[in-house]
Amino acid sequence: MLRTEAVKKVYAQKRGNVTGLDDLTLEIPEGDFVAIVGPSGCGKSTLLLTLGGMLSPTSGKVLLEEQSLYDLAPDERAKLRRKVVGFVFQQFNLVPYLTARENIEVPLYLAGLDPAKQTARAGELLERVGLAERAEHKPSELSVGQQQRVALARTLANDPRLILADEPTGNLDPETAEEVFGFLEALNSEGRTVVLVTHDPNSAKRCKRTLKLRDGRLEDGCTTTTQANSASPGTQPL
Ligand code: ADP
Ligand code: MG
Repeated sequence: MLRTEAVKKVYAQKRGNVTGLDDLTLEIPEGDFVAIVGPSGCGKSTLLLTLGGMLSPTSGKVLLEEQSLYDLAPDERAKLRRKVVGFVFQQFNLVPYLTARENIEVPLYLAGLDPAKQTARAGELLERVGLAERAEHKPSELSVGQQQRVALARTLANDPRLILADEPTGNLDPETAEEVFGFLEALNSEGRTVVLVTHDPNSAKRCKRTLKLRDGRLEDGCTTTTQANSASPGTQPL
């Protein structure tokens, strides 16, 4: 599904260069559910953005379904990303002046769906996340957990095969976090590939495997290629 080859990301700063990713090679097969863990600043968000076609590496390759993302023209890359990848962020990035339904319609509009179909699909997605009766509410009128569920519904709008989630439960109380994690589990069991950045060891344990990052590299003892699903959750290195 997804593969990196010696990916390096260096941020050029006035006070010197900062290395975000350092020669990172990894492989994520279709259907995998990977937790990415590591201390703050170790490159987790940089990795996720690079994997999703949102941030060009300084060198190295990212292959999404065998297409070298950063060898594509920017508009081709954006097209592939919209078709295949769904992002979930910690700050839900909902548009504050749009209703829940309208927020979900944005990617459908961008995909060129006609307005009636946008509304129908947004309705289905709101139902799926249990918010059908909140369709016409603005984000500020929803609880934090409900806002994250709207963001999840929006992520699912284009039926992505790959879901990249950057600490999606970081701002949520334990109960709501559990609910959002449960959605990710359900999406994975439908066959979608899920890559989750998390600080929560219990969530990481429930993923199929864990990749530990430190200083932009995978920590020793972590598999860089995978035998997805072969290990039971309890036997994975954390
Ligand atoms: P994490 O998500 O694990 O906390 P990040 O990927 O955000 O880590 O950051 C990795 C490193 O790259 C950090 O040292 C961070 O300060 C640096 N970094 C991240 N984004 C930028 C940026 N836009 N400009 C400069 N440095 C950055
Ligand atoms: Mg981060």
